[in-house]
Amino acid sequence: MPRVPETSPLWSKSEQEIKQVVSSVRAGRDLTPSGWPDDASVAVALTFDVDSETVAIWNGQHSPSTFSRGEYGVRVGLPRILRLLTKHQVSATFYVPGMTAVLHPDVACQITDCGNHEVGLHGWIHESITELAREDEFQLTEQAFRFWADQLGHPPTGIRTPSWDFTSATIDIIQKLGLRYDSSLMADDRPYELLSYEKPTGIVELPVDWKLDDYMYFHIDYERGYRPYIKPADVLEIWRAEFDMALQEGTVFILTMHPQIIGHRSRIVIINELIEYMKDRGAWFATMDEIARYVQPL
Ligand SMILES: [Zn+2]
Repeated sequence: MPRVPETSPLWSKSEQEIKQVVSSVRAGRDLTPSGWPDDASVAVALTFDVDSETVAIWNGQHSPSTFSRGEYGVRVGLPRILRLLTKHQVSATFYVPGMTAVLHPDVACQITDCGNHEVGLHGWIHESITELAREDEFQLTEQAFRFWADQLGHPPTGIRTPSWDFTSATIDIIQKLGLRYDSSLMADDRPYELLSYEKPTGIVELPVDWKLDDYMYFHIDYERGYRPYIKPADVLEIWRAEFDMALQEGTVFILTMHPQIIGHRSRIVIINELIEYMKDRGAWFATMDEIARYVQPL
């Protein structure tokens, strides 16, 4: 099906053309299985976006002060998270921009030496893909893909786009790279199959959401006057309620966190409590790849 030219304004398009624009990527069938491994009623994925200094680099905030906030994530937050996961013997998924590993060469070993953790794609330099031409988005994503395939000894199978952006090119790139799943979209709480122009793609979407992201509750952007603050215990309450409903529905609970945000002392304690709470209820803790494999359409 031909693509609608992106140069003419949307208001001038016909209903059919607008339907086509919207259908470039949509939610297909719910992929929640009838049950999870180990007789669990819910699958839990703890995911961490290891952005380090890359967001500041991409945004042009080139001051040692801004960089230091990202550096904290790899220097302090990540080891603290890995110790917690080791203590509980649970696996997690880490989405790491290639540039994070260039700046911190031992980051891959830190993660993979600590357990059965997964590393997934998160752009080359946390690029804002909506600002890029299709070929530039492809080039940077492929560069990250090849970099991680080399670092890990096997190709990554999943992507979380930087800032959860998505363009009309992203689905094609995911297919070209042979990825199994994406985790950047929000059309459901449950895993679902991505459609492209109404055709099933076989690609699993493991959805995200703002309320299940530490950044929304704790990130402080001092320069822009953005200083939300909420007690960590209140965030724990929201996440527990989300988990409880996921358990009732027998589907997935996917949490997005950032080492430079959640890795601070007063916040990491709620992850410890949350893991204990979910373990007590028999959750299946898995990497995103394990979940995608389990629910992948045949
Ligand atoms: Zn990120």
